[in-house]
Amino acid sequence: MLELKGICKRYVTQSFTQVALDSVSLAFRDNEFVAILGPSGSGKTTMLNVIGGLDHFDSGDLLIDGISTKDFRDRDWDAYRNNRIGFVFQSYNLIPHQTILENVELALTLTGVGHAERRQRAREALEKVGLGEHVNKRPSQLSGGQMQRVAIARALINDPEIVLADEPTGALDSTTSVQVMDLLKDVARDRLVIMVTHNPELAYQYATRIVNLADGKITDDSDPFDVAKAARREAKPTRKTSMSFVTALGLSARNLMTKKGRTAMTAFAGSIGIIGIAAILALSNGVNGYIKKVEEDTLSSYPLTISKQDYDLSSMMGGQGAADDGSSENVDSS
Ligand code: ADP
Ligand code: MG
Repeated sequence: MLELKGICKRYVTQSFTQVALDSVSLAFRDNEFVAILGPSGSGKTTMLNVIGGLDHFDSGDLLIDGISTKDFRDRDWDAYRNNRIGFVFQSYNLIPHQTILENVELALTLTGVGHAERRQRAREALEKVGLGEHVNKRPSQLSGGQMQRVAIARALINDPEIVLADEPTGALDSTTSVQVMDLLKDVARDRLVIMVTHNPELAYQYATRIVNLADGKITDDSDPFDVAKAARREAKPTRKTSMSFVTALGLSARNLMTKKGRTAMTAFAGSIGIIGIAAILALSNGVNGYIKKVEEDTLSSYPLTISKQDYDLSSMMGGQGAADDGSSENVDSS
C-alpha cells in the first residue's frame, strides 16, 4: 500500500521557484491500474519520481505499507527501489551496446542472483513479452514497440509490487501503443501499475482508475481510496542490494571494451602526467651529468700543481717583538 500525504515539491532555479507538486494527497491500492492524466508541466513525472524514490520531496510524507519514509536514508531508498519498484520510461532507457538479454539481466545483478539463474530468468521474462527469438539483438535492431516491451520485461524481472510507467506509449504509433497497453494491463493483474499518459482514450480504455493533475494539484480522481477503511498488508521482507565482485569486474571490463577508442584516449591522457615526470627526471639527470663532464674536462686542462716554498717565520716574529718592547717603554715613562 502506498500513500502520499500532502507531498510538496519545488524546483528552485536562479530566477524563480517552480512548484511541481502542491500538497498532493493520494493513496493507491495494492492491485489496480492507475492512469495519471494532465497537461505537460503539471507535475506527473515529478509525482512518479517521488513515488519511485528517484526524487525527494520537500514536505509531506510518503507512506509505504504504513511506514513513513521521512527517516529513510540512501540505503533504504536503494532497497525500496530495488525490491518493490519497476520503472518503464518513455525513452526506454536501454543500454545500446548490450543485447536485450543482457539489458534485462542487468536489472538482476544488483540482487546478487547467480549468473545462470539471471540468464534463465531474463530469457523467460523476454519470452513473456513475446521477444523470445530476439534475445541476442541489440536495442537499435528493434522497433520502438519492441524496445518498450524489453523495458517492461526489465521492469518485471525482479517481480516488483509496483510498476511505474512514464508515458510508455509516448513515442509509439497507435497499433504498437495498443500492444504495450495490453501488456501493461496484463502486468496490472497482480500488482499496482501507475502510468502517466498523454492519451486519455487509452487511459479510459485500459485503466481501472483515472487521476487528473493540473498545476501540481489533483483535480479529479475517478476511484478514490480510503486507507482508513482498508486492511493493511504485511510488509514483505526486504532483499539485500548487492553485487558480487566478479560481476562488477565483468561489467566494467565489458563497458571498457565497447569503447576502445575512448579507453585508449583516457589511458593516454592519464599517462601524460607520468610521462611528464619521467621526462623531467631524465632531463635533469642528463643535464647534471653534462655539467659534471664539462667541469672535469675544463679542470683537466689546468692541472693542480703543488710547489715547495719556504717562509722565514722567525724573522717576522723577531720584528714584532722589537715593536712591543718600544711601546712598553713608552707606557713606563708616562
Ligand atoms: P509533466 O511530467 O507533467 O510534464 P514535470 O513533473 O516534468 O511535468 O514538471 C513539473 C514542473 O516542474 C514543470 O513546470 C517543470 O518545468 C518543472 N521541473 C521539472 N523538473 C525540473 C527540474 N529538474 N528543475 C527545474 N524545474 C523542473
Ligand atoms: Mg513528464
